[in-house]
Amino acid sequence: DPCCAAPLPVLGRDVTVPLVTGGEVTYAALDYAASAPALQRVWDDVAAYAPYYGSVHRGAGYLSQLSTDLFENSRGTVHEFLDCRDDDQVVFTRSTTDSLNLLAAALPADCQVFVFETEHHASLLPWRDARVTYLNAPRTHGEAVRTLETALADRDPYGPALVCVTGASNVTGELWPVRELAAAAHAHGARIVLDAAQLAPHHPLSVRELDVDWVAFSGHKLYAPFGSGVLAGRADWLQDAEPYLAGGGASRKVARRTDGGVDVEWHSTAARHEAGSPNVIGVYSIASACKALTEAGFGTLVAREQHLITKVRDGLAEVPEVKVLSLFGDDSPRVGVISFVVEGWNSSHFAAALSAEYGIGVRDGLFCAHPLVRTLLGSDPQDVGECGAPEAEPGERLLNAIRVSFGAGTPDEHVERFVRAVK
Ligand code: PMP
Repeated sequence: DPCCAAPLPVLGRDVTVPLVTGGEVTYAALDYAASAPALQRVWDDVAAYAPYYGSVHRGAGYLSQLSTDLFENSRGTVHEFLDCRDDDQVVFTRSTTDSLNLLAAALPADCQVFVFETEHHASLLPWRDARVTYLNAPRTHGEAVRTLETALADRDPYGPALVCVTGASNVTGELWPVRELAAAAHAHGARIVLDAAQLAPHHPLSVRELDVDWVAFSGHKLYAPFGSGVLAGRADWLQDAEPYLAGGGASRKVARRTDGGVDVEWHSTAARHEAGSPNVIGVYSIASACKALTEAGFGTLVAREQHLITKVRDGLAEVPEVKVLSLFGDDSPRVGVISFVVEGWNSSHFAAALSAEYGIGVRDGLFCAHPLVRTLLGSDPQDVGECGAPEAEPGERLLNAIRVSFGAGTPDEHVERFVRAVK
């Protein structure tokens, strides 16, 4: 029974934290959507490599060569993990935010961008220098596709266009109809980039099958917390763009000109956008996580996570004061990310109590998706005020929420303790 499969070993499972009520308890990390704990396997792989650490692409010594191989082989592992097309490029970045800003910097001239207002700020904001159309929050998958189609039908049909969409919401955990949105984008001659920050850790992901042009994700949400991320996909826009950073590694040939300036020939490979000494530990840890998740099998991981989701949702459903936030409705497929409000409670106080009294780490706030949370809470989505919790009195409108999120390393006890605590 895959539901009863053991959680994958992660770091921090034995860490104890003090309680205000006295004594201590093992920490229940239920904030995977912000950053997931490292897989033990990732940690072990990194530790085994650490003595062999050396410069990548910058040394003739044995350890430099070994580190270069490890770095370049990691590209292949990620390519395979994402089921990319043969000629797709895998560019290593710092994070999803970095990946999407890189793509934004590589947009062709006059590119139009289409993005739902419901996106995480990392997907919502990088395009501000382009012509952006912000699409209203849909309430069904069908409405999402129709909204996009209507917007694309109105666009300048001859210019380049990009759609940016999340695979799984960092607020509601709900999956988005990525394949259908990609088909709509392509039918109108647009490209599409998938923000897979919350999808990749929880769900199998195939660039070919979804037919997206690019995908972005972060190592630290994929159990690989060493500061790397990925942008993978079509090479053409990336090859044509100015390098994201100017410097060594991105440049193939640099020479002084007779007029005193410099001529630069940039790489056309992924290296074009990877100037500077690369974060080989971060990149290797992502590759290690990709292998570990593939070996564990997403069939098993998804089944186990669904079992945890059911426990949390059933538990929350027994508390009448709790309202779970959802854009597409209760039956919509989702990953292990659930946000809710509790009537009469300030969400920040509630989250603080979960930590102080039960040793449970969740997140409160607007989750870097202000327009979405405001839509879900019924306030004005145009008003993107300060992130954080205004002091709400009992009975007052709550302007922030509580998010519980979990994944491959979560034992049943953590979600059971959470449900008990909420009750
Ligand atoms: N997109 C989504 C859906 C996210 O959940 C996050 C992280 N919360 C990001 C993008 C940004 O990821 P990072 O902070 O690693 O750049």
